[in-house]
Order: sequence, then C-alpha cells, then structure tokens
Amino acid sequence: MCIECGDVQDKDLAMIDLQESRRVMARARELMPGGVNSPARAFSSVGGDPPVLVRGKGARVWDADGNEYIDWVASWGPLILGHAAPDVVEAVCAAARDGTSFGAPTVREVRLAELIRRTMPSMEKMRMVSSGTEATMSALRLARAATGRDEVVKLDGCFHGHGDSLLVKAGSGVETLGLPDSPGVPTGLAKHTLTLPFNDLSAAEALFRERGGRIAAVILEPVVGNMGCIPPREGYLQGLRRICDYHGALLIFDEVMTGYRVALGGAQARYGVRPDLTTLGKVVGGGLPVGVYGGRSEIMDEVAPEGPVYQAGTLSGNPLAMAAGIATLERLSREGVYESLELTASELEKGLDDAIESTGTDARIQRVGTMLAVYFRREPVWNAEDARAPEPEKFARFHRAMLEGGVYLPPSRVESWFVGMAHDEEAVSQTVSVARAGFEVVNSAG
Ligand SMILES: *Cc1c(COP(=O)(O)O)cnc(C)c1O
Repeated sequence: MCIECGDVQDKDLAMIDLQESRRVMARARELMPGGVNSPARAFSSVGGDPPVLVRGKGARVWDADGNEYIDWVASWGPLILGHAAPDVVEAVCAAARDGTSFGAPTVREVRLAELIRRTMPSMEKMRMVSSGTEATMSALRLARAATGRDEVVKLDGCFHGHGDSLLVKAGSGVETLGLPDSPGVPTGLAKHTLTLPFNDLSAAEALFRERGGRIAAVILEPVVGNMGCIPPREGYLQGLRRICDYHGALLIFDEVMTGYRVALGGAQARYGVRPDLTTLGKVVGGGLPVGVYGGRSEIMDEVAPEGPVYQAGTLSGNPLAMAAGIATLERLSREGVYESLELTASELEKGLDDAIESTGTDARIQRVGTMLAVYFRREPVWNAEDARAPEPEKFARFHRAMLEGGVYLPPSRVESWFVGMAHDEEAVSQTVSVARAGFEVVNSAG
C-alpha cells in the first residue's frame, strides 16, 4: 500500500489466480485508455487488475480464469433481475429475430413508454435515448429552453453522467460558480452551473434569494447513489419543490439509479414529491442501453418535432433495448416483488451491521431500498463532505479481501451495492461471512 497516494500495490495482495485476466488487460491497455471503456472499471481506486468477466447467471459472475463471484455490482445498477434473466433473454432474442433496428416508429417503444407512465405518473410524456448521460443532457437543454434561463443548480457529489454542463466540480461555497471538473469543458459553460451542498435547504434558499430569477432548474439524485447511499433528510425534497415553484425553476429528479430501485415508482413515489422532469436509465433498460427523459406534457411538447428543442438519435428506442426494458418492468410490476427485494436487502444490511459490530470496526451501513453502501466511519453520511472523509485505503483493503473471498463489489468507495431478485439467502450469508473476514483484515492493518 502506498499510503501517500492511496494506491494499492500488487505485491500487497494475496493472490487469487488472475493470470488470464491480466493477459487480456495487457492487450486491452494497448487499445483503449486504461484498457477500459469506462474509467471506474479499471480498479484504479482499489488497486490490482480487474477480473475480466466472461459470464453471468443470476447473482453470480465468472472471470476468464474461472473464478466465481457473488455480484453486487449488477452492471452498476441495471440488472435488478440478475444476470441472463430468462424473461429478458427470451424477449431480446425474440426482438432480434424481428430485426434489430429500423429508425422508424415501432410497437415496443410505445409499450415501454406505457409501462413507464403507469409506474411513474409524473412522466406524462417522454423521449427514449440510449444512455443516462444523454437523458440528463437533453433534460437540461429542455429546462433551459422552457424557462428561457441559462443557469442550473447541481448538488455537490451528485453524478449525472459526463455531459459538459454537469461535469462540474462541486465547489465548497454556496455561491461558488462552477469550475470544470475535466479539461475540455469550457469555463464559459461551466460557469452557468451553480453547486449546493446536498441536504442543506437553507443554502438552497440563500442561493435562490440571490439569483433565483436566472435559474432554469435544480437537478439532483433524490437518493444519492454516486456518493454511496445518502438519503434525503426529512422534508428536503419537499423544500426544493417549494423553492423551485416559488422562483419558477424546474425540479429535475435524476432517477437513472433510483428509478425502479428504491421503489417501483422511484424516489418520487417513495418520498411523495412530483418533479417537473425525470431522467431514467439503468434498470429501465434491463441491461441494454436505454435512457429516458420525460415529465409534464407542456414541457415535453417543446421537444422536436412538436416544438423547437432539437434532440435526436439513430438508435433511440432500439427494439432490443425496448424488449429488455419491457420484460424487466413487467416482472417488477408483479405483486410482492418490492417486498421481497426489501426483505433481501434488509437481511444483507442486518448481517453487515452485525459483522461491523462483532469485529468492532469503525464503519456503518446506509441503505435505501435496494441501494446499500458501507462507509468506514461511524457517523451518518449526509453530504459530499461526509462521504469524502478520508480512509480510502480501508475501502481498498476491504474490497480486495471481498474479491478474494469470491464477492464482487463496486471498485469504488462511493458507489452503491445493488441488491436484486437473484440474490438468495446463500448469496447474502456468504457475503456476510466474507465481509466479517474483510473487516478483520481492515482492522488488523490498523
Ligand atoms: C449512471 C448514472 C448516470 C449516467 O448514465 P449512463 O447510462 O452511464 O450515461 C446519470 N445519472 C445517474 C444518477 C447515474 O447513476
């Protein structure tokens, strides 16, 4: 372990055999930046080479060396039914036999839209796109057009994909103008993104008092899954709704992660707050590339061809992706599904709490519905400042111990674990016993 930089060195790690994975990653690094197509997959924050996965079934995945893992990543959220769920596989194969893409209206996209509106009534009208990033970028353009205002408010630590306006460093001060979080994002654009601390209503009131007339929208993850798992404080979402209404700004819930995860109707159903616009992704695509943005009809009617706000996509509403989404939402709409998910997730939470307690670890579990995170601190985590509290090396050690024990966790301490229908009692109890050993490893390292 390099304490200075928090990087875990390979020699620190007891070995599971990852020879073949290493060979593939060496080839990959010649061809793709970091050998990956999305940065967190490279394991840079936990160290070592990632296992290269070749197969998944239910709650389990297998790597190129034949190692088996219980998977709590679930493709970073989408696979709430588990890997290769029979209904989804069947639906996708049937769609493929009918032709994979038309660039024309099709029946399946109407069916998925109907299912979405039935489960999330605030989405009166919607548009299908191909990723969560595309959904949030498009929702923001629409909000700016609909209000005739340029500024948007983003909450510190919330992640909305890699669109320029939202890839902005969350500043510490309430009125800090956004600074780009990545080279290549023009400062002139980033300055229209204002940031606020999550769960702080008086900071939001103060910002709106000063410049409310210029703000097009507030966008947030109503439960923050990109800082682990942070629930909104009592009344926080309601307060933001009130402030937006007063100042004529739109409230956008980015439910790319929380949609169909914290409840069938997402966080808006769980907390009883109706946003003007919602973005979806992940579960709604059942493991294929889908994003959706939608909301009040009169706002959505601004989108082309009905209105002047341009947004388009060659593969939008792709039949295979629609089929996977339909199969997933139909299954999730059945009686008792969320009760059973809640039961599994609470068993996992309870088991991990016990393991923390019995090993005397300075850690805590936070959970909302099927999203759960472990933090290596005792105090509650309410915002980015809490979530960024140090100890990255503790998570890195824990992650490695879990991997070696056959449990595949998100390789980042600020990512949620995702519970799904395929996680059975065995998956939970095995995970808990490996976690108990993992906490011991963390504690013995001091
Ligand atoms: C994953 C995620 C996104 C980005 O979705 P992609 O499909 O990866 O582009 C946006 N918002 C939230 C809340 C997410 O969790």
